Amino acid sequence: MRVVIVGASGRMGLAITRAAIEMGDVMFVGAIDREGAAAVGRDLGELAGLPAIGTRVTTDLAVVLGDADVVIDFSAASATLGNLAACANAGVPIVIGTTGLDADAHSAAAVAAQHIPVLIAANTSLGVTLLLELVRQAARSLPADFDIEIVEGHHRHKKDAPSGTALALGRAAAAGRGVEFDRVAVPARTGGERQRGEIGFAVVRGGDIVGDHQVTFAGEGERVTLGHQATDRAIFARGALQAARWLVGRPAGRYEMLDVIGLKTIV
Ligand code: NAD
Repeated sequence: MRVVIVGASGRMGLAITRAAIEMGDVMFVGAIDREGAAAVGRDLGELAGLPAIGTRVTTDLAVVLGDADVVIDFSAASATLGNLAACANAGVPIVIGTTGLDADAHSAAAVAAQHIPVLIAANTSLGVTLLLELVRQAARSLPADFDIEIVEGHHRHKKDAPSGTALALGRAAAAGRGVEFDRVAVPARTGGERQRGEIGFAVVRGGDIVGDHQVTFAGEGERVTLGHQATDRAIFARGALQAARWLVGRPAGRYEMLDVIGLKTIV
């Protein structure tokens, strides 16, 4: 599989590089980072703490797409629109793991998905993909007087809050309950009494937390808690590569991790 990695020298870019080199059958035909990044011009393998692989970090995605089977993008939300347009122009599928995408980015993804396969996943781990389904199922099964609260924790450098995964869990709960997420979500609660039907979020930021998520359904006299703790970024990296492998050769369209893992059948 010939891959271009975008956000090459970031925490996830390097984790994906290491996981791919370990797999042995992945070739990096491009490594993209932002203009001015310290990594530009350096060898991707060496940046990942491994022997050189002969792929240097550059800044123009369109230039390297000619040889690519798939793009894996874990960079910045501000880069998503341009990356989608470049991939759609070149006819190259894209896996987007970047979080914090706004409505414009999702609209651009819908447009690009008319031409190429586009997979967007706020979390590419197998465990979280399963958790999303379990949360949807719990929200569907439990009565509406069970209050839904989502707590997430990440490292001190994380740019967005609540995390893309926490929001995806909230959307899964809302879908299970048959309500519109945007009408019930309370992304940052400060003071005041809880309103019936809300889906509330609480955020922890500190140290090197890789990613913790906990969804609580709190009823009268009992609570159900579903959760996931990531202790190693390699889980997201392996999942992203698995998604990329699955996406190559698919028809144009929007896809998600559930499609890759085949979990849509459990409910
Ligand atoms: P990071 O800050 O360590 O790395 C981001 C990289 O992208 C940096 O090298 C930065 O220079 C580069 N970048 C910034 N703007 C760019 C641009 N315009 N073009 C190309 N490269 C650009 O962050 P990270 O921890 O690696 O996370 C990256 C993204 O992935 C974040 O949005 C994060 O929330 C998300 N993430 C997703 C998952 C998942 O499972 N989907 C897991 C972890 C992190």
